[in-house]
Amino acid sequence: MPHTPTSEGRVPWRATVLTLFPEMFPGPLGTSLVGQALTAGLWSLDMQQIRDFGIGRHRAVDDTPAGGGAGMVMRADVLGAAIDHARRTAPDLPLIYLSPRGEPLRQPLVRELSVGPGAMLLAGRFEGVDERVLEARGAREVSIGDYVLSGGELAAMVLIDACVRLLPGVLGAPESLAHESFEGERLEYPQYTKPREWEGLAIPDVLLSGDHKKIAAWRQAAAERITAERRPDLAVATKGPNKGR
Ligand code: SAM
Repeated sequence: MPHTPTSEGRVPWRATVLTLFPEMFPGPLGTSLVGQALTAGLWSLDMQQIRDFGIGRHRAVDDTPAGGGAGMVMRADVLGAAIDHARRTAPDLPLIYLSPRGEPLRQPLVRELSVGPGAMLLAGRFEGVDERVLEARGAREVSIGDYVLSGGELAAMVLIDACVRLLPGVLGAPESLAHESFEGERLEYPQYTKPREWEGLAIPDVLLSGDHKKIAAWRQAAAERITAERRPDLAVATKGPNKGR
């Protein structure tokens, strides 16, 4: 993918993914708004096949865990070479290892990454990667949730999608971002559209009143109630290490 400035002179946000399965991409990232933004050159996607740096005739990328145990671990020498190669063309991208052990991916971190040059994303497989490569190459570990995926590729897609939709020009109505869940310390208020009544359920009268002050107050109260009910931790969580970055 060419990495040339957009017509407004902006350098596109750049995602470089190191993976054993580059054929998974762009996958869902090639559709809808994010896919259109990719076609329009608002962001770019490069894949680095880790196996290209594998060892020997079989291009081995993994080996048994030191100390014993189940599964295989991705080798530091292979990953180090893959990262160094990718950094030759993308030296300014922060290196992120998608990992269930990582700091949680929350909206402040998404915002931080979306205003930067992009991200170099290392997708693990097997039991994960040799710890030494994370230390030696300065990787930041990021988790997309408290569950274990079979590989980091889906996690990389989640991170990319969340960042790209914040880029200027990607959303048709960027003002909609201001009220979204996790902007501020609340979840979003309930949304309604036509028909006015459906299966005996009506849209709350206030939303049809045309009184913008009352609508704003109703939405704020609803957002606060839902946040308190569903995510009482949220105000605390958004004051954590990612807050405001
Ligand atoms: N043995 C590892 C552990 O217990 O932490 C899990 C390895 S998992 C089977 C293989 C790869 O999937 C990981 O190296 C990581 O890249 C990715 N992965 C799994 N769960 C993830 C999550 N919640 N967030 C981000 N990446 C994840």
